[in-house]
Amino acid sequence: LGGAAFHFDTTLGYFTQLSRSKVESAEESDRRYRRYSGLERALGSFDRAEQLIREVYESCFAFGLERQHVAENDGFLKSQSALFAHVDTSASQPVTVQSAIGLIAGIRDEIVSRGSDVFLHSPLDAIRDGIGRRWLAIGGSPSGERLELEADAVVLAVGKIAMPWVLQIIQDLSIAHKESQQVDIGVRIETSRERLDPLVGGCHNPKLSFLNDRRESVRTFCVTVGGRLMQYEFMGFPVLEGQHCMELPTQKTNMGVVTSLRAELGESGTHRALAIGRRVREVGRGKPVVQSVGSLLGVQGWASGDGCGHALNTSLIEYTEGDLRDCLPDHVIKDIVSMLERLNDASPGCIQPDAILAAPVIERIYPEVILSPDMETSQPGIFMVGDCSSKIIGITYGAATGIAAARAIIAQA
Ligand SMILES: Cc1cc2nc3c(=O)[nH]c(=O)nc-3n(C[C@H](O)[C@H](O)[C@H](O)COP(=O)(O)OP(=O)(O)OC[C@H]3O[C@@H](n4cnc5c(N)ncnc54)[C@H](O)[C@@H]3O)c2cc1C
Repeated sequence: LGGAAFHFDTTLGYFTQLSRSKVESAEESDRRYRRYSGLERALGSFDRAEQLIREVYESCFAFGLERQHVAENDGFLKSQSALFAHVDTSASQPVTVQSAIGLIAGIRDEIVSRGSDVFLHSPLDAIRDGIGRRWLAIGGSPSGERLELEADAVVLAVGKIAMPWVLQIIQDLSIAHKESQQVDIGVRIETSRERLDPLVGGCHNPKLSFLNDRRESVRTFCVTVGGRLMQYEFMGFPVLEGQHCMELPTQKTNMGVVTSLRAELGESGTHRALAIGRRVREVGRGKPVVQSVGSLLGVQGWASGDGCGHALNTSLIEYTEGDLRDCLPDHVIKDIVSMLERLNDASPGCIQPDAILAAPVIERIYPEVILSPDMETSQPGIFMVGDCSSKIIGITYGAATGIAAARAIIAQA
């Protein structure tokens, strides 16, 4: 209960309808790209994915989340089709931490009132073959006692941060999986809210995508207007996210820019992403690496080493000023520069030399676990939902996959 997102103000995606918000290369299509939704792929059909998203929202409202439909003012962005292969402006619902706390408490109370137990602060250590029932889940209770639960089904919903543990479970239980073929790598751009408002201020989370010359998708994601940058440690290196600050907005806006890097033949996307994360750790001496746009582009008076003396204007508290070219592959740098140019073409002057770029953003790093449309692994009764499923990211998506797994377990009981 709770998890990564609800420690902060957040937005829930696809409030009015699910959309195919991403693009990928498709040689056979007339337009040479196709649009898709990760949830649709995970659950096997767009209609099913849309239906489950609707149920997620209805549950949230039933447990006290206030319905807040703010219309998306997306006419300007939608007119930018010359610059972007796709502009997605699906509506989102804002959620403050206060309302999330009420929502989570409501869900917990409902579970308990129906006769179930909720063990908070009780990490699971291992899953083994059970004797009577199929699985034995072993963990620790808050008082330090061992907790052993026999179960017909175990649903792992342990998020991105638990990746080392999930990799161990995949190995221990011989769960079928493939090396990841694609990982999302990039930076976050941060600049003043005033400059980016004409471009993104009218929408909650616009996603702007194009295909690079390697036919990989380059896109913005997780726009936080009036937000701040935050970092956490993942697999031994720092990674970045954008944090909404709805109740106390800042004067800055930031957004992720990532390339969906396709793994080369025989290469593991996970290993490639980990290598990039370690490289940033090295260059940044354990901290994220930040560089001004002016310095990256070599704008006169901004290039590093010419004594420009410009202080970096970022909401990050801990970082190292450095050269992103030392951290990220050249073609990713090229994609970032191309996105900066497109943003400036769409809204002249929105990204100026004093805007900052911070690395690394690393997403979709899990190996591809083979899952049924009900999120069941090759081991009957072991399910993986949410971020750890390797299929999707996001709160509503995660909840939709959780409902799909729950229904399948009930049907099998
Ligand atoms: C700063 C930030 C802002 C974000 N903003 C948004 C947003 O605005 N909108 C959006 O849709 N998404 C947002 N995301 C992404 C979103 O948080 C995730 O996609 C979502 O939380 C995934 O849900 P999950 O249930 O799969 O995993 P998580 O939310 O990560 O939850 C996993 C839970 O499992 C627990 N756990 C881990 N290991 C174990 C174990 N061994 N035993 C028991 N429990 C364990 C963890 O403590 C955690 O509570 C944001 C993420 C971050 C970090």
